Amino acid sequence: MKYIQNYIGGELMAPKSGEYLDNIDPSRGIVYSYIPDSTKEDIDLAVEAAENAFPKWATTPKDERSAIMIKIANLIEERMDEFVAAESLDNGKPESLAAHVDIPRAVSNLKFFATAILHFASESHYMENGAHPGINYTTRKPIGVVGCISPWNLPLYLFTWKIAPAIAAGNCVIAKPSEITPMTAYLLSEVCIAAGLPAGVLNIVHGLGQKVGDAMTRDPKVKAISFTGGTQTGETIAKIAAPMFKKLSLELGGKNPNIIFADCDFKKMLSTTLRSSFANQGQICLCGSRIFVERPIYEKFRDAFVERVSKTKVSYPTDPEAKLGALVSKPHMEKVLSYVELAKEEGGTVLTGGIQVHLEGEYSEGYYMRPTVIEGLAYDCRTNQEEIFGPVVTITPFDTEAEALMMANSTVYGLAATVWTENLTLAHRFADQLHSGIVWVNSWLVRDLRTPFGGVKNSGVGREGGFEALRFFTEPKNVYIQL
Ligand code: NAD
Repeated sequence: MKYIQNYIGGELMAPKSGEYLDNIDPSRGIVYSYIPDSTKEDIDLAVEAAENAFPKWATTPKDERSAIMIKIANLIEERMDEFVAAESLDNGKPESLAAHVDIPRAVSNLKFFATAILHFASESHYMENGAHPGINYTTRKPIGVVGCISPWNLPLYLFTWKIAPAIAAGNCVIAKPSEITPMTAYLLSEVCIAAGLPAGVLNIVHGLGQKVGDAMTRDPKVKAISFTGGTQTGETIAKIAAPMFKKLSLELGGKNPNIIFADCDFKKMLSTTLRSSFANQGQICLCGSRIFVERPIYEKFRDAFVERVSKTKVSYPTDPEAKLGALVSKPHMEKVLSYVELAKEEGGTVLTGGIQVHLEGEYSEGYYMRPTVIEGLAYDCRTNQEEIFGPVVTITPFDTEAEALMMANSTVYGLAATVWTENLTLAHRFADQLHSGIVWVNSWLVRDLRTPFGGVKNSGVGREGGFEALRFFTEPKNVYIQL
């Protein structure tokens, strides 16, 4: 069985502890490889390597940094099938999803920031009047050694979404993938070596959040942390990092509303709502888990939706017909199932799903679950307020725009929202009033990598994407010259 290695100072190496953790294949519920159980010692080594690499990388011309990143992207593309299979095996997601979304998007992230850095400009402000005519110009320099911590739901996709802008901007990176899905980050380290990325520019340290993530957060030499994961973890990181005045970007949980008005394009809405509810087993921070439907079409929607959901195929990840694969881990599946029980206690009716699925043969111990639709819950009950992060949605009717808005905005989260209407004025008005970092009208998960990505309220602090990410990973300095 494969022993994943850390990637530190340009080399693949075992953790200093010599200890490894089990890496489980969620589609079968068996251990299939081992992950370094790294400690502060490995982080210390990585920080030293990154510090040593920084002066040269920070002054390497942009187009040279860009060229290496493009090479990394191209090498992933060359090994596409291997990356797709690895992502699906590690995470449980259908291979078709990894092939269409995860790995192509990781390639796009690298190419996007490799080219974005070539167009990244800083500002100049001319003061023509008053007592101090002059020119301000702003430089933007890389920060130094930065940390990137990512979750398990879109493993390489989110890992590269952080690493790419960081190294494009000239920083050296300590990166920690989720211990639940480390495999494609390991393959990435092989690709970085093959592409000739200078030693120490990217260091990938595997292991537990409480050990590796914590050591990285506490290290005063790590000047910024870009984190994607749960809100509670984000809070822990902020408490440690804030007193050291580290720059922080926190992309956290969500409980996204999907608001469906009666005048919507029903057919398009229905098929997109299936995806926005259950893509990646509902384990995308952008999935819409609270569906609010205007009363005149509530029953029509409920019946059509439940029929489609009940026919949705849950299967092993390599089944080309699979619409949902396995959930990422046993504890996570149990957590999601426990929310179905909570929903029942809170007075909800499970219209379809709500149960674990046992597939045949070698997949019988995998972590599968039927996609679940629940109705009859109050908008402010726990099921409708807490992040479940699985294939569970609730449906709730509404009578007025004001009521829909109140319910949509009622959670502590504010990551993404979807609005379905053919009424242009209503769409603008509603989008404007949603407490949400991202709003999709008549669509879902359409991503333009130039746009700011992130949430309000407990869904996070800061924005990723486009020049926002390059601004995060650089330190501005303003110089004023009197004329
Ligand atoms: P998590 O918070 O448990 O873990 C995320 C990462 O943080 C992992 O690499 C983990 O090892 C590390 N970590 C854990 N404890 C740590 C600590 N004390 N110090 C430093 N690092 C630590 O989240 P998860 O379960 O992997 O991912 C699911 C969560 O991520 C959901 O809440 C989901 O909404 C959120 N998410 C948000 C976005 C977004 O863009 N806003 C995207 C994807 C996922």
